[in-house]
Amino acid sequence: QIKGLEALKNEPSLTKDGHQVSLWVNTGLMTDVVMSLSHGAQGVGLYRTEVPFMINERFPSEHEQKACYREQLEAFAPGYVTMRTLDIGGDKALTYFPIHEENPFLGWRGIRVTLDHPEIFLVQVRAMLKASEGLDNLRIMLPMISNISEVEEALHLIYRVYHEVREEGFDIKMPKVGVMIEVPAAVYQARELAERVDFVSVGTNDLTQYLLAVDRNNPRVAGLYHSFHPAVLKALSHIVQESHDAGKQVSICGELAGDPAGAVLLIAMGFDALSMNASNLPKVKSVIRNISLAWARDLWEEVSRLDSPQVIKSTLDLALKDAG
Ligand code: PEP
Ligand code: MG
Repeated sequence: QIKGLEALKNEPSLTKDGHQVSLWVNTGLMTDVVMSLSHGAQGVGLYRTEVPFMINERFPSEHEQKACYREQLEAFAPGYVTMRTLDIGGDKALTYFPIHEENPFLGWRGIRVTLDHPEIFLVQVRAMLKASEGLDNLRIMLPMISNISEVEEALHLIYRVYHEVREEGFDIKMPKVGVMIEVPAAVYQARELAERVDFVSVGTNDLTQYLLAVDRNNPRVAGLYHSFHPAVLKALSHIVQESHDAGKQVSICGELAGDPAGAVLLIAMGFDALSMNASNLPKVKSVIRNISLAWARDLWEEVSRLDSPQVIKSTLDLALKDAG
């Protein structure tokens, strides 16, 4: 069956009524890149730059980072590669930069670490920008944003590096810069955030954990981690509206985008792009090509009135099954 799905590689991701949705992949290792290309990915919606940091024994140098970023950018050019600035802390540890905290998910992670250590951020952005020379398909994305000031500070540093790198003689363009919405506070400031950046991307893995106060990695409460919780769905729909009102593109890069039922709802809500693990891409594309946007919207309209995550999930599964 997978073989049949792979035949879709070069087919467009269009619904039956002609609505186009960009399908992107989440990458970390080079092996993800190989699989992504073989599945026909149009670009990278999330390159988890922590992965090359995590498999190292010390902070990779600017030169090493540049080589690694260049590989990703070259593999997908002219498609975008969205590079997330280092998102360590929480569930992502570096052996050579230990962080011991009682509540790591509420602690020093993502942008909080890199703004406290601008030398890490500056080297990383410098490597990204230099790697993009001549390709111009880089997008930079900021993780774990919970305050407008973090975006402003990060943008200031990115502009600074951009001018420095140009002065060094690199012929680069200013990349698009975006924010991840993963924290409830950012949901309620989606508009203000979107106005300051070029794009918005929702990290549903963290957003779900923070909205529901359920640790994403704790098996004891795994039964409460509902991706289809009405509160999660309302938050997602709100983010799309606010981002579009600000005239910005909005995508999803959490696991929900790789779930066929999730993908259908996200398209109905108006998300412009879905980024997922490459292994999920063929089945999501197949579902998109099999439905119409009008049908997806009706389904969203129906489930938006339900208040049980389980009933929402089974309603979606049933509808998808009926749709073939
Ligand atoms: C997310 O939180 O949904 C996300 C995409 O980032 P990560 O899973 O790497 O935290
Ligand atoms: Mg996250």
